[in-house]
Amino acid sequence: MLLKELSYVRPNSVEEAIELLNTYPDAGILAGGQSLINVLKMRIGAYSTLVDISALKELQQIRESMGFISLGAATTYDDIIHSPTIMLNRPILAETAIRIADQQVRNRGTIGGNCCYNDPTCHFPPLLTAMGATMLIAGKDKRSEMTAEEFFTGYYQTALEPGELLVDIRIPKPQRPYGDAFVPLSVGGTDVLNAVTVTAHLELNAEGKLTEVRLVAAGVGPRPLRMTAIEKVLDGQPYHLSDVASAVATFDISALEPPSDVHASGEYRRQMVPVLTERALKTALEQVGRGYRE
Ligand SMILES: Cc1cc2nc3c(=O)[nH]c(=O)nc-3n(C[C@H](O)[C@H](O)[C@H](O)COP(=O)(O)OP(=O)(O)OC[C@H]3O[C@@H](n4cnc5c(N)ncnc54)[C@H](O)[C@@H]3O)c2cc1C
Repeated sequence: MLLKELSYVRPNSVEEAIELLNTYPDAGILAGGQSLINVLKMRIGAYSTLVDISALKELQQIRESMGFISLGAATTYDDIIHSPTIMLNRPILAETAIRIADQQVRNRGTIGGNCCYNDPTCHFPPLLTAMGATMLIAGKDKRSEMTAEEFFTGYYQTALEPGELLVDIRIPKPQRPYGDAFVPLSVGGTDVLNAVTVTAHLELNAEGKLTEVRLVAAGVGPRPLRMTAIEKVLDGQPYHLSDVASAVATFDISALEPPSDVHASGEYRRQMVPVLTERALKTALEQVGRGYRE
């Protein structure tokens, strides 16, 4: 199906983009277009004007600061994959970006678009939730920030208000040994479509005990889900856990209400959560143990 006729504008700055979004209330933001154009073609959504932010250099910067790295919202997956700053500080971002679709999608698709679209199969919402990322938002005459956990509110929903733009994503640089793991259950062999994912992050304190444990399941509900029961059990434990399975078993999967669709039944998704969690945890614990991501 062809696109409906609409207006197209290309602002020269974030301020101008926000001005346009607030001048035309029926305007939508176009980043990489890898999801939005399909949505418009299929008539699932409609805008009268598209505000194209993909060429805004100020939204494409990857910067390193004292305690964090920041990624502009229009940073493409390909930029992430080839960034030395990311490889040095949080390689899991590049390792995850390279799993997304194919080179054409990775050339155009952006981390901000991935987050704002917030499809339950998307790679970045659960990853950024587990990494403890902060989302920076610009609106008319105001700037605000919130945690990734607060940002992702439901299926295809975020905490963004009309007229607001996600501008930057801040990701902490752990100051001690840490482990990061992203484990998908994908339909189609590679990560063509993630039916369920589990992401793990953990750090090791000076006493050799686990801290900052975050475990996130996605594809099993409306938003990335922190598995706090397991996090609490692991917090303060030595890293050479002898019984990962018992820790994982503290999470009550019967409370989950995953969707059923052509890719996987809800019950299958539910049963896969502990399996993927155990794998993600073991990978993250191995990294911490050998100081790989130190
Ligand atoms: C063949 C194919 C396979 C794919 N496979 C995967 C996959 O395996 N994993 C995966 O995660 N994704 C996958 N995708 C989706 C892809 O990653 C998209 O790039 C992503 O969902 C949206 O990013 P985008 O930059 O293209 O955003 P767009 O499509 O331009 O925008 C998506 C939505 O976000 C909004 N938006 C974009 N940027 C901002 C911003 N800065 N502030 C506020 N709102 C904004 C737009 O208005 C729109 O509503 C696939 C896409 C295709 C076409």
